[in-house]
Amino acid sequence: STQIQLARRPQGWPTHEDFATVTVAYGDLAPGQVRVRNEFLSVDPYMRGRMNDVKSYIPPFALGETMTGGAVGRVEESTSDAHPVGSLVLHNFGWRDVVQEDARGFRVVQEVPGAPHSLHLGVLGLTGMTAYVGLTAIAQLQEGDTVFVSGAAGAVGSAVGQIAKLLGAGRVVGSAGSPEKVALLTGKYGYDAGFDYKAGPVLDQLREAAPDGIDVYFDNVGGDHLEAALAVLNDGGRAAMCGAISGYNAEQAPPGPRNMMNVVKAGLTLKGFTLGNYGHLAPEFREHMTGWFADGRIAWDETVVEGIDHAVDAFLGLMRGENTGKMVVKV
Ligand code: NDP
Repeated sequence: STQIQLARRPQGWPTHEDFATVTVAYGDLAPGQVRVRNEFLSVDPYMRGRMNDVKSYIPPFALGETMTGGAVGRVEESTSDAHPVGSLVLHNFGWRDVVQEDARGFRVVQEVPGAPHSLHLGVLGLTGMTAYVGLTAIAQLQEGDTVFVSGAAGAVGSAVGQIAKLLGAGRVVGSAGSPEKVALLTGKYGYDAGFDYKAGPVLDQLREAAPDGIDVYFDNVGGDHLEAALAVLNDGGRAAMCGAISGYNAEQAPPGPRNMMNVVKAGLTLKGFTLGNYGHLAPEFREHMTGWFADGRIAWDETVVEGIDHAVDAFLGLMRGENTGKMVVKV
């Protein structure tokens, strides 16, 4: 099996030298094990945090061990009745072409008509659920709310706009890093307006796109986006604090928003979340998403990088904004 390991802890932006490719030989299956050939690997922003040796909501990646993370593949050999040969499985064993482990680490998933298997890593899986949970349980979205989403053309963001609309939001505004992405926001992902945050100050562009202010902010970016959102959130506004990718590769902690006093003045609620604590909402999410998807109401894009040898390139590309929708590696 070809596997990618973390060889060294990156300082600032990761480089190829921080990773190593190794070959691992698996023996015969032990009782209770399965062997799975991966089809797609997920690369995700949270992985950057796990490369640092700091205490967080999940432990850091171990040096000299294979990078873990979401993946989807097919069972090739099995000693588990619940995981027959040929079944499609989701797991978290990460960056390897073949994985052989205890069957309990694998969840069998149904094939969805019209959906490539990679969508179980994207809009049908944890990224779609992040969008749903952030809007509902965290931001307490109300009918008619004006919503602003940063990172709106990414995996989570492209789902947020659509789900917000399906749940009855009023005006939905998004920001993204290129004119092509902004065109997709309004043309495909249900947004009413979008702007390119690289084309001018975020606050000016946000004011223009949401002249009556916003009621909900879904934050994927942090930094200047968060400061701008705090400036335009209406009284009683709510923010789902999902991520802050603008600072993930910074060598020093980025400065906080200068206008935190607006939280006091406007009675705002800023609530952070990590999806791992909301597993109990998975059935509710799946029920909604299965129906929306079957009805053709969910648009999606993914950027597919070919070959496990390019997993690091895919991860770096994600951090640089080279993806539209979900970034995945086709093994
Ligand atoms: P995306 O598909 O959104 O990919 C990352 C995107 O971030 C890039 O495409 C790029 O788009 C954008 N980006 C990179 N640098 C900057 C910057 N300096 N300023 C603004 N945008 C930037 O990834 P995900 O959808 O997987 O994740 C989105 C966010 O959600 C992340 O912050 C992630 O950590 C968080 N997350 C949180 C979860 C939770 O449980 N709380 C679960 C899953 C994700 P562009 O071209 O527009 O710059």
